[in-house]
Amino acid sequence: MEQPAYQAALKSAAQMLSRSDAELDKLMTPDRIIQADIAVQLDGGETVFFPALRVQHNSARGPYKGGIRFHSQVDVDEVKILASLMTWKCAVVDIPFGGAKGGVKVDPKKLSQLELERLTRGYVQAFVKHIGPNQDVPAPDINTNEQTMAWMMDEYSRIKGHQMHDFVTGKPIALFGSKGRELATSLGGKFILDLMIEHFKITKRPIQVAIQGIGNVGGGLAKLLGLDPRYKLVAISDSQGGIYRPTGLEVAEVFEHKKTTGSLAGFHYSHDITNAELLELDVDVLIPAALEDQITADNADHVKAKLILELANNPITASGDAILNNRGIPVVPDILANAGGVTVSYFEWAQNRQGWYWEEGEVNGRLQKSMLAAGQKVIKISEEKKVSLRVAAFLLSLERVDQAMHLRGKLVGHN
Ligand code: NAD
Repeated sequence: MEQPAYQAALKSAAQMLSRSDAELDKLMTPDRIIQADIAVQLDGGETVFFPALRVQHNSARGPYKGGIRFHSQVDVDEVKILASLMTWKCAVVDIPFGGAKGGVKVDPKKLSQLELERLTRGYVQAFVKHIGPNQDVPAPDINTNEQTMAWMMDEYSRIKGHQMHDFVTGKPIALFGSKGRELATSLGGKFILDLMIEHFKITKRPIQVAIQGIGNVGGGLAKLLGLDPRYKLVAISDSQGGIYRPTGLEVAEVFEHKKTTGSLAGFHYSHDITNAELLELDVDVLIPAALEDQITADNADHVKAKLILELANNPITASGDAILNNRGIPVVPDILANAGGVTVSYFEWAQNRQGWYWEEGEVNGRLQKSMLAAGQKVIKISEEKKVSLRVAAFLLSLERVDQAMHLRGKLVGHN
């Protein structure tokens, strides 16, 4: 695995803040890795064990927070990276959580709904001592969804003997999830995109945008761009490949085409392209919104976009990032660009604890305020210190985490 861009940025930020190697080491090491084998009785009666884990990275600023994924390739190193990103992300947007991530090594497509429910309840039973609304608050991630969260909340409440809506976020609205959560990552990304377009003085209209990924996050942003005449979506992809039309794609028609044919390929008046080609298109803004490690030393030289917004977690490797920096292509880092999701998760947790629910307009208004405050601070640091937006975001979050650790007496050796 190539070094992720965030590790190099975190290191630069720590050096700029005169942190020792020992302090940096402490900030990079998870507090705890908990592992368990979850026994699930299959519908046929046979019992199968699924390896599961939860990585709790840092809780200096509040309970650990992070998603749980069900995937056949769940791997402890990847989960450690994602748990760490959550710590820095929550700190950038100044919400009172630390970072965590969890997963189960399973191909969920091979399980029935009942088997998935047993697996989900088994996860809560296995980790119950370490998770909870004041300890570690799970959320959905790859192949888990609001139904998974409903089962988790129910199982945790059953074990504790009373209702605990605040145990997980990303619940269905009918079980007191937050209005606005579904679109929150995309909307937060859009607020940051608007801010960066202004900051980098991209005055051309319409602004041509390519998005890799048409899932929850990429698809959500595509819909938002379709409502804003300043932007024109010219390319979008799924796992099979993408479509490109330089004069612009009709977003609603693209979704309809994917729904009816199951694929993006063959969309009228557009070119079918590969995911690799999408990343190298001559567009104004490129938005990786699917997978990690998409822009690397192999293709960073060929990227033609004038601005990159990382909606996926970890889509650029350290060597890819260094090339983009040298070429003067600004990258809005994941910990800022996609922090809208965890911000509204925090709103969900806060609403559950208050027992008082907000209208969607209020959620979105508060999201906008949080995202813009974080974005403006990152821009200011980047200008003052003459560093990339990624290093600036890490300077901001590192100072916040570091300060909390220092005040708690968990970091020694600096003033
Ligand atoms: P999703 O599963 O809804 O969508 C993923 C998209 O990626 C799909 O369109 C899929 O077709 C596409 N894809 C899969 N394999 C691909 C491949 N090999 N090449 C190109 N595209 C491929 O997931 P999502 O919730 O939209 O999350 C996407 C990214 O955003 C992930 O990195 C996730 O960690 C990150 N993220 C999501 C949220 C959230 O609120 N959902 C929040 C923060 C970050």
